[in-house]
Amino acid sequence: MTSQEQNQFRLFALGGLGEIGMNMTAVECGGKILLIDCGLMFPEAYMLGVDLVLPDISALEHRTDDIAGLFLTHGHEDHIGAIPFLWEKLGCPQIYGTALTLGLLHNKLKEHNLEERVSTHCVKPRQPVKLDMFEVEPFRVAHSIVDGIGLAIRTPAGLVIHTGDFKIDQTPVD
Ligand SMILES: [Zn+2]
Repeated sequence: MTSQEQNQFRLFALGGLGEIGMNMTAVECGGKILLIDCGLMFPEAYMLGVDLVLPDISALEHRTDDIAGLFLTHGHEDHIGAIPFLWEKLGCPQIYGTALTLGLLHNKLKEHNLEERVSTHCVKPRQPVKLDMFEVEPFRVAHSIVDGIGLAIRTPAGLVIHTGDFKIDQTPVD
């Protein structure tokens, strides 16, 4: 791989851009893909008969071997809710998240009889995780659910910050 190819960088939203729900982002560098979140959207009134709306992962259809991992920012439905439905279609990637996020995910996986099959890794803020050509360092953010993180992602092309969901909290309890 030439250094130019190694530095080739793309970031694309598979859901959640300009809409509420089904948040899912792909960061691609040097042919490897890091996935961030995999949420669902609850249907709008006009979507009669639809139970759940999932991110469109067709862009990854022939690329599941390139997926370095799936990182979760927090445990809200619109960030983790689609995992039981899409995890196998994504080539069964390893999943990374904080303790509460993984706890909420495990309940979901149990419901779908996937608990035994999915490997999850508990991450801690400020402790970087090396995933292929990405080095992902979680950092704390304030949000309406605890144990939420943003991600500092170091790639050969540069540093990417994914904030996750956050709010500016004037009176944080911690
Ligand atoms: Zn949220």
